[in-house]
Amino acid sequence: MTKQPKEKKHVREVLFVGADPGRSQQFETECKAQIGRRHFVASTQDAVTLLKQGHIDLLILDLESFSRPGDVRALGELISSRRAGVETLALCPANAAAWLLDLMPHGLQHYCLSPYLSSELTRRLEDMARKVDAFDMTQRLDDRGDIVDINSAWLDAMGYTIDEVIGTPFENYLVPESCSAVQKALVTTSSNPSTNTLVCQLRRKDGSIFDVALNGVATYNTHGEHLQTRCELRGVNYFLADKWKSESLLQVERELKVLLLVRSKLQQALMGIKDVNELSFLMCHELRKCPGIVGVAFLHKDEHDVMQLDACMSRDDEERDSFAEGCEDMLQSARDKASGVLSALIGGEFVIADSLAKIGGQKENRLFHAMGVRTIVGTPILAESIMFDEAANTLGALCLMLDRRRNLPHEWLEVLSELGALASFGLSIIEWNHEKADFMRQLRDMAMTDTLTGAANRRSANQFMSREYDHSQQEGVPLTLIMMDVDKFKKINDTYGHEQGDQVLKVITRVAKDMLRESDLLVRWGGEEFLVVAPKTSAAEGFALAESIRLAIEKTPIEGCHNVTVSMGISLIAAGQSIEDALGGADAALYRAKESGRNRCIMAEVTPTDDTKSLNP
Ligand code: GH3
Ligand code: MG
Ligand code: MG
Repeated sequence: MTKQPKEKKHVREVLFVGADPGRSQQFETECKAQIGRRHFVASTQDAVTLLKQGHIDLLILDLESFSRPGDVRALGELISSRRAGVETLALCPANAAAWLLDLMPHGLQHYCLSPYLSSELTRRLEDMARKVDAFDMTQRLDDRGDIVDINSAWLDAMGYTIDEVIGTPFENYLVPESCSAVQKALVTTSSNPSTNTLVCQLRRKDGSIFDVALNGVATYNTHGEHLQTRCELRGVNYFLADKWKSESLLQVERELKVLLLVRSKLQQALMGIKDVNELSFLMCHELRKCPGIVGVAFLHKDEHDVMQLDACMSRDDEERDSFAEGCEDMLQSARDKASGVLSALIGGEFVIADSLAKIGGQKENRLFHAMGVRTIVGTPILAESIMFDEAANTLGALCLMLDRRRNLPHEWLEVLSELGALASFGLSIIEWNHEKADFMRQLRDMAMTDTLTGAANRRSANQFMSREYDHSQQEGVPLTLIMMDVDKFKKINDTYGHEQGDQVLKVITRVAKDMLRESDLLVRWGGEEFLVVAPKTSAAEGFALAESIRLAIEKTPIEGCHNVTVSMGISLIAAGQSIEDALGGADAALYRAKESGRNRCIMAEVTPTDDTKSLNP
């Protein structure tokens, strides 16, 4: 068999929609060889009109010259309005991949991410031309092998008019090498009227060759005489494309299943998440298990609003260090550059860089390339905005490094973009949990403190005392109570007013707290009466503490009021003594302090063995 000239893939009629003449021009220059007739329009309305005329094979949308979200609707309608069989190819900016999420639901399947490499675009057009070759051609041959009927797909694919073909032998359209094989295949019998599938080569009117697979079924009359053979011819590429397509679809489906599984696992785990570190670790750890994902990086803005690498994980733990280094470098170059795919990601855009050359940065590219990274999908983590008009605030980003370059199907893109939303949900949960913890703390504080003075209230004092009491009784460490009462407080109220009285209580609280140690507790016991619970404090130490408080209060000037004094009763809780007894003892000592002239501290009279009585002034 002689070698045939290589068949050129041609998309017959292309409609290019884009408002930028420079870019249409560039397309024209780069892709002339891959396309037949071409039409250029700037608006979607003109495109709809041309599409209605019904001869377009491929619609190309230059998204770079449209704007999101304003033009999404018109473009979506344009894609939906094309008749069946017209393919659409979007030239999509890599730094605005959300276009794909917008347009794929309308039937967009193919895209090239700009800045595209010109070889990428021409290869894509060749692929699409192959699909045009997939026409279902049919023909009917009479008993001599002459063509009696053909369909329009046949004429389209071969470039003839119907008049040129009817009545001519089918052999005329075969390369000589295919003739005898076809003749042989077309011999059938009434008991076995089907031909075997045969691959042969047809010659188009323009001289180009193309491979078809031929199948025929013959009809016979009642006498067993052959009448006609109906043949179906399909471009061989159709089968290859079809086989490839179904295999890759299965693959996509398998991968999608895993991705969805990981996503639902993440969803469940998010509820219990405590902080950003845990979230970023979890997401990286789970996502790197997905087929096709070589590495994951979780970026998060720090308190200065600077994007930081929070976690990153490669599929292979051994590469961890170099992967982290690559991620850091990539992040640094994204921060430095004002534009570019990764800067757009940091700015909150969904991006896809399907070639490392499109990211820039030589060093990290080499690292990533060595790891098998071919595509980076970046999904922003946005603060959930409640208001519609509110510009979404970027909290971070999730970078997924994929091991292949290919058009990602819509379902994949959806799930990948949702991962950003999932991370944002995780961050909300963390924030919510923090707020809840803060709120609970506030509630607890409110339940445990006196609102006027901020000292502990009786409820928390009882809890604290009983805990310290148990500890002191079990371990034999001393615990001392100091009862404190403001002297002539009624008079302060009467002289300066009730509000000034409140102010005095606040000042006394502040001064007393300053004198206490971390381990002591100041309680507003009621009215103008306070209690100090002093753990690990002997009677002598308790007395000294009380004295220091008394002196400090006496010395503190209070605005709008004369200096105030307090009296105190101090009681050590002896072994075997109850809290109530000790409180009673402190109260009695306080009473004695009042009796003996106020502004003084008196030790409770407890057991005769208590040697601290001598400390009383
Ligand atoms: P003594 O030196 O004997 O303790 O005399 P006193 O006047 O301090 O004692 P008394 O028990 O007669 O009066 C206490 C006053 O404290 C009566 C009450 O109206 C006032 N008081 C209680 N709680 C508050 C409060 O929260 N704010 C203000 N401004 N006054 C209060
Ligand atoms: Mg008083
Ligand atoms: Mg009192």
